[in-house]
Amino acid sequence: MRKFYFTPGPSQLYYTVEEHLKNALKEGIPSISHRSKDYEKIHHHTVEAIRSLLALPDDYHIFFTSSATEIWERTIQNMVDTESFHLVNGAFSKRFFEIAENYRINAMSQVAEEGEVVEAEELLIPETAELIAITHNETSTGASQPVEDIKKIRKAFPDQLISLDVVSSAPYVNLDYNLIDTAYFSVQKCFGLPAGLGVWIVNNRCLQKAQTLLNKDRVIGSYHSLPSLLEKSIKNQTPETPNALAVYLLGKVATDMVDKGIEQIRRETEYKAAVLYQAFEQSNILKPFVAKELHRSKTTLVAETTIPSKEIISKLSEKSFVVGSGYGKFKDKHIRIANFPTHSKEHVEILADELLKIKK
Ligand SMILES: *Cc1c(COP(=O)(O)O)cnc(C)c1O
Repeated sequence: MRKFYFTPGPSQLYYTVEEHLKNALKEGIPSISHRSKDYEKIHHHTVEAIRSLLALPDDYHIFFTSSATEIWERTIQNMVDTESFHLVNGAFSKRFFEIAENYRINAMSQVAEEGEVVEAEELLIPETAELIAITHNETSTGASQPVEDIKKIRKAFPDQLISLDVVSSAPYVNLDYNLIDTAYFSVQKCFGLPAGLGVWIVNNRCLQKAQTLLNKDRVIGSYHSLPSLLEKSIKNQTPETPNALAVYLLGKVATDMVDKGIEQIRRETEYKAAVLYQAFEQSNILKPFVAKELHRSKTTLVAETTIPSKEIISKLSEKSFVVGSGYGKFKDKHIRIANFPTHSKEHVEILADELLKIKK
């Protein structure tokens, strides 16, 4: 029986991936040299498709890494000399903070309860912090930081570098990227692609910061340092042998999303999220984990369960729906449901009906 993956990453592949994959094999994409004109064309196409989909400013750069986790480490190496500040409200934002701590810098954090966000008004960020790290969508709890908060933080801290994790919300998040200096995502969440590719967006302030650190004789990493990534990206290449197939597929899916229209994708995401949250509210075994509606994620929805979540997961699995368990300590107390662009309205409506059929 064919399964439908509503897991928050890896998830159901974007519905056009199968066809693009077949074409890629026919065209021999996995065999082409990464120093060839053919690869450069693919690389350029993918970069421009992402720029267009996210409406990125022309002077922002797009680099490829192995994952978002790698970008956390590269961000600390390239953009922080002594101090970083992290808004922490769950496992992913905490992991970035811990990586910063590993670098023996003065990593500071302000922590919110799980299921909440650090309120912009309550933030106490020292002026000396060089980087402010924000997670737009905390996938472990389903809490999302409103874009309005990011505007407020930018206004209060014009000189600091702001890093935004949009791993499980891009391209849905409607963001003016001029507000932030660096953002990043992995392709196995909303883009519906096989895991193993990270996309790192940086502006020139980030590049200048890396250069300043280099001038001070700091170690900023080697092949994936910002200057090294920039040098190759100017030629539409990467420092190492990249996964050309993944770069190709990302370009195709981003183009499909541009053709569909980002506004349409956002409207559908909001409709499907409303259907699922309504099911959480009506169900007698579920309730939304995030109490404040304003902070509820539209792309990774988390429900608290009154029966062990594995029972719910197993009942849905009989109907071919695969949903996620809770993250970490919430494993048996939550279910997590991805609402990505590939998930159709029809499937979401059926999933909501199936959720309502499960009773105590
Ligand atoms: C999945 C996820 C990551 C990590 O992505 P990897 O591809 O595993 O490196 C980071 N941040 C958030 C919010 C995520 O959901």
